[in-house]
Amino acid sequence: MHVHTLTHCRICSGQRRRRFLHLPEMPLTDDFIPRERFGQEFRHDIDVFICEDCLTVQTQHDVDMGDYYEDYQYAVGASPSASRFMRLLAGHLLSKYLAGRKGIKVLEVGSGDGGQLLAFKELGCEVLGYEPSTLLTRAAICKGIPTIQGLFTAGSINYLPASFKTVDVVMLSYTFDHLPQPREFIAAAQSILNPDHGLLVIEVHNLQKILERQEYCLFEHEHSIYLTTATALALAARERMTIIDFDLVPEADRRANSLLFVATPSASRLAGQFPPAKSTAPPELGNLNFYAGQAELIKGGIANLDTFVNRITAGGKRIAGYGAGGRGIMTMAAMQAASKLCYVVDKKPKGVGLVAPKSGVPLVGIPALKESPVDEILVFSFGYMKEIQSELASFGYQPRQFHSLVDVLAGRASQ
Ligand SMILES: [Zn+2]
Repeated sequence: MHVHTLTHCRICSGQRRRRFLHLPEMPLTDDFIPRERFGQEFRHDIDVFICEDCLTVQTQHDVDMGDYYEDYQYAVGASPSASRFMRLLAGHLLSKYLAGRKGIKVLEVGSGDGGQLLAFKELGCEVLGYEPSTLLTRAAICKGIPTIQGLFTAGSINYLPASFKTVDVVMLSYTFDHLPQPREFIAAAQSILNPDHGLLVIEVHNLQKILERQEYCLFEHEHSIYLTTATALALAARERMTIIDFDLVPEADRRANSLLFVATPSASRLAGQFPPAKSTAPPELGNLNFYAGQAELIKGGIANLDTFVNRITAGGKRIAGYGAGGRGIMTMAAMQAASKLCYVVDKKPKGVGLVAPKSGVPLVGIPALKESPVDEILVFSFGYMKEIQSELASFGYQPRQFHSLVDVLAGRASQ
């Protein structure tokens, strides 16, 4: 796979970039491979920088991902709490900002299996998805969600159907921070948004939360930028957009690590009607020296994970991981002791006989926890802890056998 290195900041084009984190030889998050091909998968260092001029945290390399996303199968839509979130988001957005409007058009970029657009459609919106993955596009179309298959680029706007040349909502859920040129995307979105009341709705990982929890696993090749409320506000303003909402869906109803914002063209009626949102990022996130200290904390977190797994297995006990999404794969990839995990469980494993990239941990479905029981379970997808615990109670697992990734990283694990 081709890797392209940048020479300037993705947001302000400045050249004063400071590297603060180095994760050597990391894989792609969804690149599961047959055991016999282990070692041949893509691996490349992940270096994370902060721009000294605009303070946007970012990577400075792009991996050519076309085929990879085409084969991507990971969908959040399967979980009840994810479906609930999608309905809340659509309902709140329409009632708060677009109440009384008819024929609302919603375009989602990176629309996955169409779960979010279905929530908008059920409320009477006209919807259109854009999704690179073949499998997810097919799943969306089966649900009755019109979806164009492909990677969305600035040029894609020219290929939208005539009825979607102007839209009321452009939505991106955990897609915006995958774009190599995020600023160019905002400009393109603005060009099709209704200038009177158009809304750009973006959900990404919140850098502030990543650092609070030392969730280094979210530093991925797939991610280009890592925003806080402060850098999101500044980025939107560069493209004459105003963020009017950071709390569209209450934090308790969002995924574990979410920065959700609603922006509108700065000259729109909505920008006049609603006050601009305020940054809630603590001031130290604007201090360049803060970031070197964070890298040290992250190294400590990785050491805590290794100690935890080593202690359990040294006592003759068996441990498995739960959740083979990006969190699980990247967490294991940076550890020394990950190969001591018996396996990593996923609700919908990508295939049979596969192992996780770099760590080589076997990927299995939920029945493995019954057929080949373990003593302890390290839960990578900790946002779904309660659902996972109640689902596995029928196999005889007790709540005390589950350990949240966040607790282990912070050295708070009970084992
Ligand atoms: Zn910059």
